[in-house]
Amino acid sequence: MITRLKVTTRARVEFQDITSQVQEAISSSGIEDGVCYVFVPHTTAGITINEHADPSVVMDISEQLSRMIPQRGDYRHLEGNAPAHIKASVVGNSQTLLIESGRLLLGTWQGLFFCEFDGPRQRTVLVKLIAD
Ligand code: ZN
Repeated sequence: MITRLKVTTRARVEFQDITSQVQEAISSSGIEDGVCYVFVPHTTAGITINEHADPSVVMDISEQLSRMIPQRGDYRHLEGNAPAHIKASVVGNSQTLLIESGRLLLGTWQGLFFCEFDGPRQRTVLVKLIAD
């Protein structure tokens, strides 16, 4: 079974913490131990794991990505959102997490972030849980 999470983004670029949504999917599945695959089926969004205790960390990541991949540039893609496609490839579109005792096994400061690069939009995140 695949769980489809809905993510509503409110800005062109936004890092949204989805750790609790993924944890809810695990809790409602009843799985105690296993693996959790999280996949983003979009070409202008990604997913990453980083610090969620201090929100300035993902703001720094977002701002540095925008310096490396500026909004205006010598891009070929005519749709106008080439930077969003490039950022999505740099960040990546999937993560593999571990489940132990019904909980996502993350480090103390780690959170799972949906990375919007061409919002605001309604997005989908696919979660596949595999029990031991
Ligand atoms: Zn495009």
